[in-house]
Amino acid sequence: MNRINITFAIFVKNCSKKKFGRYLMKKLFSNINPKRFQNDYETEEQCLAYLSDVKWKKGYVCRKCGNTNYCSGKKPYSRRCTRCKSEESATAHTVFHGCKFSLPSAFQMMYQVCKKPDISSYELSRLLETRQMTCWKFKTKLIECLEENEGLLLDT
Ligand SMILES: [Zn+2]
Repeated sequence: MNRINITFAIFVKNCSKKKFGRYLMKKLFSNINPKRFQNDYETEEQCLAYLSDVKWKKGYVCRKCGNTNYCSGKKPYSRRCTRCKSEESATAHTVFHGCKFSLPSAFQMMYQVCKKPDISSYELSRLLETRQMTCWKFKTKLIECLEENEGLLLDT
């Protein structure tokens, strides 16, 4: 047990989507202390490795041509289709794609938001030393993603 599983599914019947999202968020990191989380996802590499593991845990399939063979891409932890050569990064199609700040900060933010879904963007901004507006945007994106997809992948 050295990795934290962020995207496991918890099914709750007779529960509205909204409530489900909040429930899921609180469940995700309920047993993990902040120090441990910080150590596990301290570097960009660790976050990318994690995303790549989660994303392709059922195996790789090229989104363009359906091929299942890949080689490593140009960026760390990205995968490149051996047939059509299209490359997919570890963050593509996840809530972390196009993030304006570092992945470790984004992971920290996700952790904070999941622990306390009502946390204000001002509080996040202080904790992570990131602009309040940036925090607000990312928090909104995270919550929407969790509520709609019941996980952190944007489309599966
Ligand atoms: Zn392909």
